[in-house]
Amino acid sequence: MKNRRQFLKVAGLSTLGLAGGLALPGMARAAGLKDSYRSGQEALKGGHWGMVIDTRAFDSPEKFEAVISACHKYHNVPAINSKREVKWIWKDGYHQTFTDQKDNYPAKDVLERKYLMLCNHCVNPACVRVCPTQATFRRSDGIVVMDYHRCIGCRFCMAACPYGARSFNFEDPRNFLEDRELNVSFPTRMRGVVEKCTFCSELLAVGKAPLCVEASEGAIVFGDLDDPASDVRKVLAENFTIRRKPTLGTEPSVYYII
Ligand code: SF4
Ligand code: SF4
Repeated sequence: MKNRRQFLKVAGLSTLGLAGGLALPGMARAAGLKDSYRSGQEALKGGHWGMVIDTRAFDSPEKFEAVISACHKYHNVPAINSKREVKWIWKDGYHQTFTDQKDNYPAKDVLERKYLMLCNHCVNPACVRVCPTQATFRRSDGIVVMDYHRCIGCRFCMAACPYGARSFNFEDPRNFLEDRELNVSFPTRMRGVVEKCTFCSELLAVGKAPLCVEASEGAIVFGDLDDPASDVRKVLAENFTIRRKPTLGTEPSVYYII
């Protein structure tokens, strides 16, 4: 399978910190809009994309910052420090992340650790069910995406998502991008629409791994959950993992090694 081999190659380079295929903002700009959205032979194809986050590896604020800023800078996520914050990937404490884990006495380091959160690209996404315009939908490869042009800003999806994974643009997000370089290869959004993590579908389309995976230096593994030989399945087979709010039946595609 050419596509899987290609992906594993990217993942291997990432582990070594030599990701020549990395879509850093500057490089992406040079590639241009057309390249970023091409879905040709280079595209990585999967039956069900999923992710495993090794939370033990995130032991400093710098490690979180590297991942969060890689995603937010590339995707032109506005930096708004208020209740109107827009976020695609963020961190919080154990009880804020795993709200249904109330039954035990977690180890001190587990309780004190911070945890990354992002859209879970659920198999049964509540957000998709409630959207009146099909502005959000689940692709055949499991990625839950947004069509910003179809979004009417009703925010039903935000109310339905049990993970707080969606943000609403109360204001024009472009007004908050002044202080840093704009990545012209990724579209900015407009006031009145909802946005969230795309699992970097635009990068998968050109044979590249998600940015948070690249920036994590091996602490986040991404791959095809349908492929028993994929890295992500191997990591799941070798480690105890949990998901957020598993009892809701949403079937998150993001797993956590605790
Ligand atoms: S985490 Fe929320 S926004 Fe993401 S697919 Fe699941 S229900 Fe939808
Ligand atoms: S998969 Fe891509 S869009 Fe989603 S959190 Fe990671 S870098 Fe951001």
